[in-house]
Amino acid sequence: MRKRLLALVALPLLAQAPDNDLARLRAAFAQPSPELAQLRQLCDGIGGRVTGSPAFTRALKWGVDGFKAAGLQAKVEPFPLVNGWTAAPPRIRIEGPMGFSPLATSWGWSPPCAGTFRILDGGDGSDAAMKTLGTSAKGAFIYLASEPMTTPEALFGEYTTTARQSAVAKALGAKGLIVQSTRVRKLLYRHLDPRCDDGRVADLVEIQIAREDGARLGRLLKDRPVQAEIRMPNRVSGPVQAGNVIAEIPGTDLKDEVVLIGAHLDSWELGTGALDNGCNAAMVVEIARLFKAANLHPRRTIRFALFGGEEEGMLGSKAYVKAHRAELDRIRAVVIYDEGLGKVSGFSLGGRPEWRPILDAALAPEGDGAPKAHTDDAFVGTDNYDFLVEGVPTLIANQDWTNYLPNYHAESDTFDKVDAGALRRQTHEAAILMWGLANAPALLSRQTRAQVEALIQATGLAPQMKTFGMWDGWADSSRGRK
Ligand SMILES: [Zn+2]
Repeated sequence: MRKRLLALVALPLLAQAPDNDLARLRAAFAQPSPELAQLRQLCDGIGGRVTGSPAFTRALKWGVDGFKAAGLQAKVEPFPLVNGWTAAPPRIRIEGPMGFSPLATSWGWSPPCAGTFRILDGGDGSDAAMKTLGTSAKGAFIYLASEPMTTPEALFGEYTTTARQSAVAKALGAKGLIVQSTRVRKLLYRHLDPRCDDGRVADLVEIQIAREDGARLGRLLKDRPVQAEIRMPNRVSGPVQAGNVIAEIPGTDLKDEVVLIGAHLDSWELGTGALDNGCNAAMVVEIARLFKAANLHPRRTIRFALFGGEEEGMLGSKAYVKAHRAELDRIRAVVIYDEGLGKVSGFSLGGRPEWRPILDAALAPEGDGAPKAHTDDAFVGTDNYDFLVEGVPTLIANQDWTNYLPNYHAESDTFDKVDAGALRRQTHEAAILMWGLANAPALLSRQTRAQVEALIQATGLAPQMKTFGMWDGWADSSRGRK
């Protein structure tokens, strides 16, 4: 109590009732906002922004400039990427009668390729189907058919499946894979082999072929042996610098405690990263602007993070956690948005159901529309991961995927997919949440290694960590709570 009174004397703004703060926040929100124009600049002006590319560097400047225009100090915290990578569209010519030139694209961080190769039919890509190829696979490309993707579960399944298929193909000595797109009507998207995160170049050539062209190739393979000329001059640059953009509003009486809201700034580049994840990067900048415009002074420090390298294995948040390890005890909440602009149904509590009363109280000013269907799960998939395994309390917005799923990492993830009203509603809700967390009477504490261990068991996180190559880091304590 005494400490609180002292703080009130030093900082008269704290004497204002919380309702007054919210009224000022709402008044600021009602004013014209640069949010949509900033998002358009990121998508149309800068475009797709693969980590380590010149476009990504321009996006870092966009972030710093956005926070500065809002009246905050902002800086880039650099981290290295093992390799920069630039895609070149593959040119494939299937030779002979009924030959054709399929539409195709590279997987992320595939090595380049040029030459004439045999293509073999790997069927549905099951271990059994691929292993029947035996020694004939040496030096050849293996074509793998797929099922159309229509659910988030099927999308996550693609990563598990392709990690296994690429490992089998490598073991068979294949030159590469040609995998049928899971999206109809020739939609292409950038997929990454989970075995080559961290900017490591894949150990075989990985190509995605348009769904209809793949089906045609599959039919041809039933008729006769197929040879193709394949040229895919991808460029691998060697080590490059990437970075995170970090800004903050210092707290008052609890300024040593930090609540962080983050979204990744990088994107794939077939589209322009509007839903994944430009909209949420713009939202994070806008929330900072609203708090400054409303002249709000939170009890806890609010930190704003635009992470790089998310698409290559959450590299920016991983680097952030490593660089800020000494202050992780003081980071009391990490809130991540990475599912576009579909309505938020609730938050993934990262395996900590004790979040519920705190979260519901923070969201209470949203009234009946507040997201309430929180989930106790924990998953590998976005920038909360390294905080989670360090025992830091995390929240991820669970959103409606109706618009997000069909455009995921695809050519179609462009600014025209942004619902301007949904962007404003989501920004309002997230601002209320961050304000509530920054001023909450109490938040959760950091977990010990034993508690994180128990959480991993209770949530079934371990198999996902293994698929994405994160288990060893946890097991040998090089990544996660010591
Ligand atoms: Zn994303």
